[in-house]
Amino acid sequence: MENGKSNGAATMKLPEIKFTKLFINGQFVDATSEKTFESIDPRNGEVIAKVAAGDKEDVDLAVNAARHAFDHGPWPRMSGFMRAKIINKFADLIEQNIEELAALDAVDGGKMFHIGKLSDIPSAAGHFRYYAGAADKFHGETLKMTKPSMFGYTLKEPIGVVGHIIPWNFPSIMFAMKVAPALAAGCTMVVKPAEQTPLSALFFAHLSKEAGFPDGVINVVTGFGSTAGAAIASHMDIDKVSFTGSTDVGRKIMQAAATSNLKKISLELGGKSPFLIFDDADADKAAHLALIGCFHNKGEICVAGSRVFVQEGIYDKVVNKLVEKAKNWNVGDPFDSTCQHGPQVDKKQFEKILSYIEHGKNEGATLLTGGKAIGDKGYFIEPTIFADVTEDMKIYKEEIFGPVMCLMKFKTIEEGIKCANNTKYGLAAGIVSQNIDVINTVSRSIKAGVIWVNCYFAFDLDSPYGGYKASGNCRESGMDALDNYLQVKAIAMPLLNSPWQ
Ligand code: ADP
Repeated sequence: MENGKSNGAATMKLPEIKFTKLFINGQFVDATSEKTFESIDPRNGEVIAKVAAGDKEDVDLAVNAARHAFDHGPWPRMSGFMRAKIINKFADLIEQNIEELAALDAVDGGKMFHIGKLSDIPSAAGHFRYYAGAADKFHGETLKMTKPSMFGYTLKEPIGVVGHIIPWNFPSIMFAMKVAPALAAGCTMVVKPAEQTPLSALFFAHLSKEAGFPDGVINVVTGFGSTAGAAIASHMDIDKVSFTGSTDVGRKIMQAAATSNLKKISLELGGKSPFLIFDDADADKAAHLALIGCFHNKGEICVAGSRVFVQEGIYDKVVNKLVEKAKNWNVGDPFDSTCQHGPQVDKKQFEKILSYIEHGKNEGATLLTGGKAIGDKGYFIEPTIFADVTEDMKIYKEEIFGPVMCLMKFKTIEEGIKCANNTKYGLAAGIVSQNIDVINTVSRSIKAGVIWVNCYFAFDLDSPYGGYKASGNCRESGMDALDNYLQVKAIAMPLLNSPWQ
């Protein structure tokens, strides 16, 4: 061990990188410009692959393929029952390739391989199974028209060609969370993975061919946000963009939609989620949950409980436990299963987090533990806890997206609620208490899309997930997510005795 970083040897042979080209109309092809970009291993900064750098021309080709598949191909015309068969086959193939997909996300994004195997990739497959199950179960309605001589009903139709813009922190789950409901709805699509983590999306593209999706239904264009991503956001022939990422880029997507074809957009954006520990909590369990809530996936998670508020009666106990546990938190190689987290995704993110830590120190917060990079190779950062954080500090207000916890004390339930809501974001919140009145009052008063009581990251395929306020405008997961990819058509016709006859 060196500064809390594990030196445990990698336990898995690194994956062979088989797919590096764009996937358009069922074929792997070079970018039109033949340009590539380097995908970097965040454990050591070394190049692991050169990946096709798609740009506007490539997005055009992919959109043409998706448009043709939507307007003329079998996918939107097939029954939901038949679509489900192919989507389930895709899920089978993902399950048969769990190790390879988890390994790709580990070398590409610094994500823990064993967690990928146990959680990320099975959950990705689970999304496809869940929405395969939904594909033949969404219906329109028979309407009770106010004019009884009229008959009316609604249809739920696929929205059309979708552009999915995906972030780098959960490359496989995000791919599935967006692609699966869109497929079930009958849409065709162009997926742009983040430039930091393009490899698993290309592997999914390969599996999609084997699963039997018609050509053009799923296209993957790798490339940068300002080029390929911007081309998707402003494309005149894309009907819908589904985006997960930073609030700043979310704004740009909204602007691009407004100044192009007014495409529908769904945004899942940043967060600065509160985690509230009340006096009656078990200090040890609460500290354990708070730590996982903040440091899981090296803090690179939009729902991270990065503002931890502890009631004054239990504050000292919880703080001691937090510091003790953070010091034993093992940071190291993503292929070493004794580690809890690996390197930050890239140099930019690594430097950004370290600069936030410097801000915290300069603004007068008390650094209880961590605060430094680990080693001289790769992008590893110690789990960091600041106490005495105040609401005017940058580390309190802004999303850091790294293993940095802000710790604050509160007195009353009302004060706890006020603190929790003192943010422009509203993605998630955690509550630790045994008191049902506290739990009910607080969970109904916090302005956030997801509330986890005596647990954290309790994601479920059937549980909708998304933000209030600046954290976004949609819900993903669960049946609500289908609505992102469907539109309602109302059909009216006169009955025999109608004046229209
Ligand atoms: P981060 O800032 O944490 O890297 P981003 O929000 O920039 O996260 O990235 C999320 C996704 O948005 C990535 O796929 C990225 O390429 C894409 N992206 C970035 N900028 C733009 C943009 N101007 N238009 C469309 N997509 C973008």
